Amino acid sequence: MTSKRSVIIVGGGISGLAAAWQLRGRAEVTVLESGPRVGGKLRTGTLAGVAVDEGAESVMALRPEAVDLAEAVGLGRALADPAPAPVTVWTRGALRPMPAGHVLGIPSDPAALADTGILSEEGLARLHQEPSRPAAPVTEDVAVSAYLAERIGREAVDRLVEPLLGGVYAGSTDALSLRSAMPGIAGIAERGGPLLPALHGRPRPTGSFVRGVEGGTGRLPLAVARASGARVLTGTTVRALERTPSGTWRVQAATADGPLLLSADAVILAVPAFAAAALLRPHAPVAHTDLAAIPYASTAVVTMAFARDRAGLGGLPSGNGFLVPPVDGHTVKAATFLSNKWRWQADAAPHLFLLRASIGRAGEEHLLDRPDRHLVRTALNDLHHAAGPIGEPLAARVSRWERGLPQYTVGHAARLARIREDIARLPGLEVCGAAYEGVGIAACVATGYAAAERVAQEAPAGVPGRAGG
Ligand SMILES: Cc1cc2nc3c(=O)[nH]c(=O)nc-3n(C[C@H](O)[C@H](O)[C@H](O)COP(=O)(O)OP(=O)(O)OC[C@H]3O[C@@H](n4cnc5c(N)ncnc54)[C@H](O)[C@@H]3O)c2cc1C
Repeated sequence: MTSKRSVIIVGGGISGLAAAWQLRGRAEVTVLESGPRVGGKLRTGTLAGVAVDEGAESVMALRPEAVDLAEAVGLGRALADPAPAPVTVWTRGALRPMPAGHVLGIPSDPAALADTGILSEEGLARLHQEPSRPAAPVTEDVAVSAYLAERIGREAVDRLVEPLLGGVYAGSTDALSLRSAMPGIAGIAERGGPLLPALHGRPRPTGSFVRGVEGGTGRLPLAVARASGARVLTGTTVRALERTPSGTWRVQAATADGPLLLSADAVILAVPAFAAAALLRPHAPVAHTDLAAIPYASTAVVTMAFARDRAGLGGLPSGNGFLVPPVDGHTVKAATFLSNKWRWQADAAPHLFLLRASIGRAGEEHLLDRPDRHLVRTALNDLHHAAGPIGEPLAARVSRWERGLPQYTVGHAARLARIREDIARLPGLEVCGAAYEGVGIAACVATGYAAAERVAQEAPAGVPGRAGG
């Protein structure tokens, strides 16, 4: 009878926990997490006595991994759809709903845009020219804007695509990779030919694009950690990895009680790119360099609670919130009207109106240097201009996500290939997380599963398995 392999997972965010879940019953798993609790960017706190998500607040429903995982760990009945509402952008002085059927802001039916006022007459005219403009195949990775501005015009990129991508990556279309940030559009670009006709008539997904969890999306990592059966050590920061002559791994960690030394047959690094880069430096120089080169955007989430009966003259805002194109010069990049969007949140505090605003795109790290009260005031000012006066909040909370969102800049796919190749030389070592193949929770879960499977299928240390080492 062979004993189970031991696996150490560094990082107790959703990626690492998904890996732990995938290995349940097949390996002795220990998760080492530097923070006081697992979850990483999934964290539910409280504001005015109500549960509020401080980081991610919904999971993608168009791909199955996150929703299926939530169901598998017992949260199926807590999954909640948002109230139906169009994506709205705050631009050209008003809140303007986008017509349905856009692909990350690119309208599949330009005619439907005309009444929204999102684009000027010139912007609309430019958009309508797209199908007749020559479109040679794009042969290399380019910035999103480099391709799209040529196709649909700069104004459409600035007012339609930029706010949508900003909502996902907090990044800029001038830096984000077409291939990695918009793979579906990149496929069309690589074939050549006009873009809008290729999007028109595509089957539209039905139902909600995203789903939330009643009581907070932060419940998901806690449930996954519990259901995985893994040993979880919080307050444990991994400082170094060492490969033993027999091919196993020794992990050095720091805890409040002093240093901790652990050994395992395999290690999965489920930490942000900069943390993985530091740990891989002595073992995988190429991966180290490429991981260290992945930039991050820092954001702050300002959550506020208002008394419904003391709302300002304009009353309470309607809809689920709005996105903001940077071209209009406002600080807030998005706002979510939580009490409108999530039934469970309205029911939890019928006398309150809860909302959150996000501040900080790539390159705006300096905004996070401001004290909390400044960020609250900035968010309130922008909200008042966008949605009308809503009075002063009863309570506010600022959650800072320093280097919170990796930026898939031009060349990301090539960088990824080099990282994977370098790491493949090290048996018993895997990486997963938001830095690789998608920043959304569902994509993170998928990378965690894939890393776990590679570890599970590897030969035990000392037995010839993968090439190299
Ligand atoms: C404000 C914000 C809102 C978001 N909203 C959404 C959303 O609504 N929907 C969505 O799908 N996605 C959203 N995202 C993206 C998504 O939440 C993240 O990409 C995802 O949760 C990242 O998971 P992860 O496990 O890869 O990384 P993380 O969550 O960063 O987890 C990594 C963990 O590793 C730990 N760690 C780091 N170094 C070490 C070390 N040396 N030793 C031990 N532990 C270490 C960290 O403490 C952390 O807990 C949002 C992100 C942010 C920042």
